[in-house]
Amino acid sequence: MSTTLAILGGGQLGRMLALAAAPLGVRVRALDPNPDACAGDVCELIVGAFDDPLSLERLTRDAQAVTYEFENIPQTALDRVRDAGFTLRPGPRSIAVASDRLLEKQHLASIGIAVAPFAPVHDHASLTQAVETIGTPAILKTRTGGYDGKGQAPVDEPSAAEDAWSAIDRRPAVLEQRLSFERELAAVVCRSQRGDTTSYPLTQTRHERGILVRAHAPAQTDQQTSTTADSWAATLADSLEHVGTLALELFDTPAGLIANEFAPRVHNSGHWTIDGCRCSQFENHVRAVLGWPLGATQQGRPSVMLNLIGAAPDPDAIAAIPGAAAHLYRKAPKPGRKIGHVTFTADTLHKAVAAADKAEPALRPCE
Ligand code: ADP
Ligand code: MG
Repeated sequence: MSTTLAILGGGQLGRMLALAAAPLGVRVRALDPNPDACAGDVCELIVGAFDDPLSLERLTRDAQAVTYEFENIPQTALDRVRDAGFTLRPGPRSIAVASDRLLEKQHLASIGIAVAPFAPVHDHASLTQAVETIGTPAILKTRTGGYDGKGQAPVDEPSAAEDAWSAIDRRPAVLEQRLSFERELAAVVCRSQRGDTTSYPLTQTRHERGILVRAHAPAQTDQQTSTTADSWAATLADSLEHVGTLALELFDTPAGLIANEFAPRVHNSGHWTIDGCRCSQFENHVRAVLGWPLGATQQGRPSVMLNLIGAAPDPDAIAAIPGAAAHLYRKAPKPGRKIGHVTFTADTLHKAVAAADKAEPALRPCE
Protein backbone atom coordinates (compact mmCIF):
# COMPACT_ATOMS: atom_id res chain seq x y z
CA MET A 1 0.00 0.00 0.00
CA SER A 2 1.39 3.37 -0.86
CA THR A 3 1.58 6.19 1.65
CA THR A 4 -0.06 9.53 0.83
CA LEU A 5 0.60 12.80 2.61
CA ALA A 6 -1.89 15.66 2.20
CA ILE A 7 -0.67 19.25 2.46
CA LEU A 8 -2.75 22.38 2.90
CA GLY A 9 -0.95 24.81 0.60
CA GLY A 10 0.94 24.30 -2.64
CA GLY A 11 3.64 26.96 -2.54
CA GLN A 12 7.39 26.46 -2.39
CA LEU A 13 7.31 24.85 1.05
CA GLY A 14 4.78 22.29 -0.18
CA ARG A 15 6.94 21.77 -3.24
CA MET A 16 10.05 21.09 -1.15
CA LEU A 17 8.07 18.79 1.18
CA ALA A 18 6.91 16.81 -1.85
CA LEU A 19 10.46 16.61 -3.22
CA ALA A 20 11.67 15.29 0.13
CA ALA A 21 8.80 12.80 0.40
CA ALA A 22 9.36 11.17 -2.99
CA PRO A 23 12.53 9.20 -2.12
CA LEU A 24 10.72 7.83 0.94
CA GLY A 25 8.09 6.38 -1.38
CA VAL A 26 5.51 8.86 -0.12
CA ARG A 27 3.02 10.38 -2.54
CA VAL A 28 2.02 13.94 -1.87
CA ARG A 29 -1.20 15.74 -2.65
CA ALA A 30 -1.48 19.50 -2.07
CA LEU A 31 -4.49 21.81 -1.96
CA ASP A 32 -4.20 25.37 -3.17
CA PRO A 33 -6.62 27.90 -4.68
CA ASN A 34 -4.01 28.86 -7.28
CA PRO A 35 -4.14 26.52 -10.33
CA ASP A 36 -0.50 27.40 -11.04
CA ALA A 37 0.70 26.72 -7.46
CA CYS A 38 4.32 25.64 -7.82
CA ALA A 39 4.01 22.42 -5.79
CA GLY A 40 1.83 21.18 -8.65
CA ASP A 41 5.00 20.51 -10.69
CA VAL A 42 6.09 17.76 -8.33
CA CYS A 43 2.92 16.39 -6.73
CA GLU A 44 -0.80 16.04 -7.31
CA LEU A 45 -2.47 19.42 -6.96
CA ILE A 46 -6.10 19.87 -5.94
CA VAL A 47 -7.26 23.34 -6.95
CA GLY A 48 -9.80 24.77 -4.51
CA ALA A 49 -10.43 26.95 -1.51
CA PHE A 50 -8.92 25.75 1.78
CA ASP A 51 -12.35 25.56 3.38
CA ASP A 52 -14.17 23.97 0.42
CA PRO A 53 -15.58 20.63 1.65
CA LEU A 54 -15.26 18.84 -1.67
CA SER A 55 -11.66 19.98 -2.20
CA LEU A 56 -10.75 18.93 1.34
CA GLU A 57 -12.38 15.57 0.76
CA ARG A 58 -10.34 15.08 -2.43
CA LEU A 59 -7.19 16.23 -0.64
CA THR A 60 -7.48 13.82 2.25
CA ARG A 61 -8.88 10.76 0.45
CA ASP A 62 -6.67 7.75 1.31
CA ALA A 63 -4.16 10.03 3.03
CA GLN A 64 -2.22 8.77 6.05
CA ALA A 65 -1.49 12.26 7.39
CA VAL A 66 -2.47 15.87 6.82
CA THR A 67 -0.04 18.75 7.29
CA TYR A 68 0.26 22.36 6.10
CA GLU A 69 2.82 24.76 4.72
CA PHE A 70 1.37 27.98 6.19
CA GLU A 71 -0.25 28.69 9.52
CA ASN A 72 -3.01 31.13 8.56
CA ILE A 73 -5.44 28.35 7.82
CA PRO A 74 -9.15 29.25 8.02
CA GLN A 75 -10.81 27.81 11.14
CA THR A 76 -13.48 26.09 9.00
CA ALA A 77 -10.75 24.19 7.17
CA LEU A 78 -9.22 23.07 10.48
CA ASP A 79 -12.66 21.95 11.67
CA ARG A 80 -13.38 20.05 8.46
CA VAL A 81 -10.05 18.20 8.56
CA ARG A 82 -10.78 17.18 12.15
CA ASP A 83 -14.38 16.18 11.36
CA ALA A 84 -13.11 14.00 8.52
CA GLY A 85 -11.24 12.01 11.17
CA PHE A 86 -7.74 13.41 10.62
CA THR A 87 -5.34 14.78 13.18
CA LEU A 88 -3.71 17.77 11.58
CA ARG A 89 0.00 17.74 12.29
CA PRO A 90 1.48 19.98 13.59
CA GLY A 91 -1.62 20.45 15.71
CA PRO A 92 -4.13 23.26 16.05
CA ARG A 93 -2.42 24.48 19.23
CA SER A 94 0.82 25.18 17.36
CA ILE A 95 -1.21 27.04 14.73
CA ALA A 96 -3.28 29.03 17.23
CA VAL A 97 -0.27 30.22 19.19
CA ALA A 98 1.99 30.94 16.22
CA SER A 99 -0.58 32.84 14.20
CA ASP A 100 -1.29 35.50 16.84
CA ARG A 101 1.73 37.54 17.93
CA LEU A 102 0.18 38.40 21.28
CA LEU A 103 -0.59 34.78 22.20
CA GLU A 104 2.81 33.80 20.83
CA LYS A 105 4.75 36.22 23.03
CA GLN A 106 2.63 35.41 26.07
CA HIS A 107 3.18 31.70 25.49
CA LEU A 108 6.94 32.05 25.01
CA ALA A 109 7.23 34.13 28.19
CA SER A 110 5.07 31.65 30.12
CA ILE A 111 7.46 28.78 29.39
CA GLY A 112 10.54 30.76 30.41
CA ILE A 113 11.72 31.94 26.98
CA ALA A 114 12.87 35.57 26.95
CA VAL A 115 11.02 37.95 24.61
CA ALA A 116 11.34 41.69 23.99
CA PRO A 117 9.13 43.87 26.21
CA PHE A 118 5.72 44.05 24.51
CA ALA A 119 2.23 45.43 25.04
CA PRO A 120 -1.08 44.86 23.25
CA VAL A 121 -2.69 47.63 21.16
CA HIS A 122 -6.37 47.64 20.20
CA ASP A 123 -7.51 51.26 20.58
CA HIS A 124 -6.20 54.76 21.15
CA ALA A 125 -5.91 54.36 24.92
CA SER A 126 -4.01 51.07 24.72
CA LEU A 127 -1.68 52.57 22.09
CA THR A 128 -0.82 55.49 24.38
CA GLN A 129 -0.39 53.12 27.31
CA ALA A 130 1.82 50.77 25.27
CA VAL A 131 4.12 53.60 24.16
CA GLU A 132 4.45 54.72 27.77
CA THR A 133 5.25 51.21 28.99
CA ILE A 134 7.53 50.05 26.18
CA GLY A 135 9.14 53.37 25.19
CA THR A 136 10.77 54.08 21.87
CA PRO A 137 12.23 53.06 19.51
CA ALA A 138 9.66 50.33 19.10
CA ILE A 139 7.92 48.35 16.37
CA LEU A 140 4.18 48.01 15.96
CA LYS A 141 3.23 44.63 14.49
CA THR A 142 -0.22 43.33 13.55
CA ARG A 143 -1.25 40.41 15.74
CA THR A 144 -2.19 38.28 12.74
CA GLY A 145 -1.30 37.87 9.09
CA GLY A 146 2.17 39.47 9.00
CA TYR A 147 5.08 37.89 7.13
CA ASP A 148 8.30 39.03 5.42
CA GLY A 149 8.13 42.29 7.41
CA LYS A 150 4.59 43.04 6.22
CA GLY A 151 2.12 44.36 8.79
CA GLN A 152 4.84 46.23 10.70
CA ALA A 153 5.54 49.92 11.27
CA PRO A 154 8.41 51.55 13.17
CA VAL A 155 7.67 53.86 16.10
CA ASP A 156 10.83 55.92 16.43
CA GLU A 157 9.36 58.39 18.90
CA PRO A 158 6.08 58.62 20.83
CA SER A 159 4.62 61.21 18.45
CA ALA A 160 4.93 58.71 15.57
CA ALA A 161 2.69 56.11 17.22
CA GLU A 162 -0.65 57.20 15.72
CA ASP A 163 0.76 57.32 12.18
CA ALA A 164 2.39 53.92 12.67
CA TRP A 165 -0.91 52.43 13.76
CA SER A 166 -2.66 53.96 10.74
CA ALA A 167 0.06 52.47 8.53
CA ILE A 168 -1.04 49.01 9.67
CA ASP A 169 -4.73 49.91 9.18
CA ARG A 170 -5.38 50.30 12.92
CA ARG A 171 -5.52 46.53 13.28
CA PRO A 172 -5.10 44.79 16.64
CA ALA A 173 -1.36 44.86 17.22
CA VAL A 174 1.55 44.37 19.56
CA LEU A 175 4.02 47.13 20.31
CA GLU A 176 7.44 45.72 21.02
CA GLN A 177 10.75 47.26 21.95
CA ARG A 178 13.19 47.56 19.04
CA LEU A 179 16.28 45.62 20.06
CA SER A 180 19.92 46.07 19.14
CA PHE A 181 21.32 42.70 18.30
CA GLU A 182 24.64 41.29 17.17
CA ARG A 183 23.09 38.69 14.93
CA GLU A 184 19.83 36.91 14.22
CA LEU A 185 19.59 33.18 14.72
CA ALA A 186 17.08 30.44 14.07
CA ALA A 187 16.77 27.17 15.96
CA VAL A 188 15.20 24.58 13.68
CA VAL A 189 13.99 21.43 15.42
CA CYS A 190 11.77 18.52 14.57
CA ARG A 191 9.60 16.64 17.08
CA SER A 192 8.27 13.16 16.45
CA GLN A 193 4.90 11.72 17.43
CA ARG A 194 6.67 9.85 20.24
CA GLY A 195 7.86 13.18 21.60
CA ASP A 196 11.55 12.95 20.64
CA THR A 197 13.03 16.23 19.48
CA THR A 198 16.04 16.55 17.24
CA SER A 199 17.84 19.83 16.50
CA TYR A 200 19.62 21.09 13.45
CA PRO A 201 22.85 23.03 13.91
CA LEU A 202 21.98 26.62 14.83
CA THR A 203 21.39 28.86 11.81
CA GLN A 204 22.50 32.48 11.54
CA THR A 205 20.18 34.65 9.47
CA ARG A 206 20.26 38.07 7.86
CA HIS A 207 17.14 40.04 7.00
CA GLU A 208 16.81 43.14 4.85
CA ARG A 209 13.62 45.18 5.05
CA GLY A 210 12.09 42.34 7.06
CA ILE A 211 12.87 39.65 4.46
CA LEU A 212 15.35 36.83 4.99
CA VAL A 213 18.12 37.29 2.47
CA ARG A 214 20.83 34.93 3.71
CA ALA A 215 21.32 32.14 6.22
CA HIS A 216 24.36 30.13 7.18
CA ALA A 217 25.16 27.24 9.47
CA PRO A 218 26.76 26.60 11.78
CA ALA A 219 26.10 30.00 13.35
CA GLN A 220 29.08 31.93 14.69
CA THR A 221 28.12 31.78 18.36
CA ASP A 222 29.49 30.23 21.52
CA GLN A 223 28.39 26.81 22.71
CA GLN A 224 26.25 28.23 25.51
CA THR A 225 24.17 30.28 23.05
CA SER A 226 23.61 27.32 20.82
CA THR A 227 22.69 25.06 23.76
CA THR A 228 20.18 27.63 25.04
CA ALA A 229 18.65 28.09 21.57
CA ASP A 230 18.22 24.33 21.12
CA SER A 231 16.72 23.87 24.55
CA TRP A 232 14.27 26.75 24.05
CA ALA A 233 13.11 25.35 20.72
CA ALA A 234 12.70 21.86 22.21
CA THR A 235 10.83 23.24 25.24
CA LEU A 236 8.55 25.19 22.91
CA ALA A 237 7.87 22.13 20.73
CA ASP A 238 7.10 20.05 23.84
CA SER A 239 4.84 22.71 25.31
CA LEU A 240 2.68 22.66 22.18
CA GLU A 241 2.90 18.89 21.71
CA HIS A 242 4.13 19.91 18.31
CA VAL A 243 4.67 17.18 15.71
CA GLY A 244 6.90 18.13 12.80
CA THR A 245 9.47 20.81 12.11
CA LEU A 246 9.45 24.11 14.00
CA ALA A 247 11.72 27.16 13.66
CA LEU A 248 12.32 29.59 16.51
CA GLU A 249 13.70 32.97 15.42
CA LEU A 250 16.03 34.61 17.92
CA PHE A 251 18.00 37.80 18.48
CA ASP A 252 21.49 37.38 19.88
CA THR A 253 21.84 40.52 22.01
CA PRO A 254 24.53 41.72 24.42
CA ALA A 255 22.09 40.79 27.21
CA GLY A 256 21.63 37.25 25.89
CA LEU A 257 19.19 35.50 23.62
CA ILE A 258 15.73 36.99 23.03
CA ALA A 259 13.09 35.05 21.08
CA ASN A 260 11.33 36.90 18.27
CA GLU A 261 8.73 34.52 16.83
CA PHE A 262 8.36 30.95 15.67
CA ALA A 263 7.00 29.15 12.64
CA PRO A 264 5.09 25.91 13.38
CA ARG A 265 6.34 24.33 10.16
CA VAL A 266 9.30 24.05 7.82
CA HIS A 267 10.95 27.46 7.46
CA ASN A 268 13.19 29.43 5.16
CA SER A 269 15.94 29.48 7.84
CA GLY A 270 16.27 25.73 7.42
CA HIS A 271 16.40 25.50 3.62
CA TRP A 272 20.16 24.98 3.77
CA THR A 273 19.53 21.59 5.41
CA ILE A 274 18.53 20.15 2.01
CA ASP A 275 22.15 20.38 0.89
CA GLY A 276 23.92 20.57 4.26
CA CYS A 277 22.44 17.70 6.26
CA ARG A 278 21.86 14.02 5.81
CA CYS A 279 18.13 14.45 6.43
CA SER A 280 16.61 17.87 5.65
CA GLN A 281 14.01 19.78 7.65
CA PHE A 282 11.54 18.75 4.93
CA GLU A 283 12.30 15.04 5.12
CA ASN A 284 12.13 15.08 8.90
CA HIS A 285 8.82 16.93 8.79
CA VAL A 286 7.40 14.25 6.48
CA ARG A 287 8.72 11.50 8.76
CA ALA A 288 7.31 13.18 11.89
CA VAL A 289 3.81 13.83 10.59
CA LEU A 290 3.60 10.25 9.29
CA GLY A 291 4.61 8.92 12.71
CA TRP A 292 7.94 7.59 11.45
CA PRO A 293 11.31 7.74 13.22
CA LEU A 294 13.27 10.94 12.65
CA GLY A 295 16.39 11.01 10.48
CA ALA A 296 19.89 12.27 11.22
CA THR A 297 20.25 16.05 11.50
CA GLN A 298 24.04 16.07 11.59
CA GLN A 299 25.55 18.59 9.28
CA GLY A 300 27.71 17.26 6.47
CA ARG A 301 29.22 20.54 5.35
CA PRO A 302 29.08 24.17 6.44
CA SER A 303 26.43 25.86 4.31
CA VAL A 304 25.37 29.30 3.13
CA MET A 305 21.96 29.90 1.59
CA LEU A 306 21.07 32.93 -0.49
CA ASN A 307 17.44 33.71 -1.19
CA LEU A 308 16.48 34.77 -4.70
CA ILE A 309 14.09 37.63 -4.11
CA GLY A 310 11.99 39.46 -6.67
CA ALA A 311 13.97 38.46 -9.74
CA ALA A 312 16.75 36.05 -10.59
CA PRO A 313 19.04 35.22 -13.49
CA ASP A 314 17.93 32.47 -15.88
CA PRO A 315 18.21 28.94 -14.47
CA ASP A 316 21.03 28.06 -16.87
CA ALA A 317 23.06 31.01 -15.61
CA ILE A 318 22.55 29.84 -12.03
CA ALA A 319 23.51 26.32 -13.03
CA ALA A 320 26.79 27.73 -14.40
CA ILE A 321 27.88 29.06 -10.98
CA PRO A 322 30.46 26.61 -9.60
CA GLY A 323 29.23 24.75 -6.54
CA ALA A 324 25.81 26.42 -6.45
CA ALA A 325 22.94 24.11 -5.52
CA ALA A 326 19.95 25.73 -7.17
CA HIS A 327 16.41 25.48 -5.82
CA LEU A 328 14.11 27.39 -8.14
CA TYR A 329 10.45 27.47 -7.25
CA ARG A 330 9.12 28.39 -10.72
CA LYS A 331 7.35 31.42 -9.42
CA ALA A 332 6.79 34.55 -11.47
CA PRO A 333 9.16 37.41 -10.59
CA LYS A 334 7.61 40.04 -8.35
CA PRO A 335 9.27 42.59 -6.07
CA GLY A 336 9.77 41.13 -2.59
CA ARG A 337 8.67 37.61 -3.60
CA LYS A 338 10.91 34.66 -2.76
CA ILE A 339 11.36 32.83 -6.05
CA GLY A 340 14.15 30.44 -5.17
CA HIS A 341 17.29 29.91 -3.16
CA VAL A 342 20.83 28.80 -3.81
CA THR A 343 23.02 26.96 -1.33
CA PHE A 344 26.81 26.83 -1.19
CA THR A 345 28.52 24.15 0.85
CA ALA A 346 32.24 23.71 1.50
CA ASP A 347 34.60 21.98 3.91
CA THR A 348 34.85 25.19 5.95
CA LEU A 349 32.31 27.92 6.62
CA HIS A 350 34.88 30.45 5.44
CA LYS A 351 35.02 28.83 2.01
CA ALA A 352 31.23 28.53 1.75
CA VAL A 353 30.85 32.22 2.66
CA ALA A 354 33.49 33.17 0.09
CA ALA A 355 31.66 31.24 -2.64
CA ALA A 356 28.34 32.84 -1.70
CA ASP A 357 29.87 36.33 -1.55
CA LYS A 358 31.37 35.85 -4.99
CA ALA A 359 28.09 34.68 -6.52
CA GLU A 360 25.78 37.08 -4.72
CA PRO A 361 25.99 40.11 -7.07
CA ALA A 362 24.97 37.93 -10.01
CA LEU A 363 22.16 36.28 -8.05
CA ARG A 364 20.59 39.50 -6.87
CA PRO A 365 19.72 41.50 -9.95
CA CYS A 366 17.97 44.80 -9.22
CA GLU A 367 14.38 44.15 -8.15
P1 ADP B 1 7.89 38.44 10.06
O1 ADP B 1 6.71 37.66 10.51
O2 ADP B 1 7.59 39.38 8.96
O3 ADP B 1 9.11 37.57 9.81
P2 ADP B 1 9.43 39.45 12.33
O4 ADP B 1 8.86 39.83 13.63
O5 ADP B 1 10.27 38.24 12.28
O6 ADP B 1 8.21 39.37 11.30
O7 ADP B 1 10.26 40.69 11.78
C1 ADP B 1 11.03 40.64 10.59
C2 ADP B 1 12.43 41.17 10.86
O8 ADP B 1 12.37 42.51 11.37
C3 ADP B 1 13.19 40.39 11.91
O9 ADP B 1 13.80 39.23 11.38
C4 ADP B 1 14.22 41.44 12.33
O10 ADP B 1 15.24 41.59 11.36
C5 ADP B 1 13.38 42.71 12.34
N1 ADP B 1 12.77 42.89 13.68
C6 ADP B 1 11.57 42.41 14.08
N2 ADP B 1 11.33 42.72 15.38
C7 ADP B 1 12.39 43.39 15.83
C8 ADP B 1 12.75 43.98 17.08
N3 ADP B 1 11.93 43.94 18.14
N4 ADP B 1 13.94 44.63 17.18
C9 ADP B 1 14.76 44.70 16.11
N5 ADP B 1 14.50 44.16 14.90
C10 ADP B 1 13.32 43.51 14.74
MG1 MG C 1 10.26 36.49 11.19
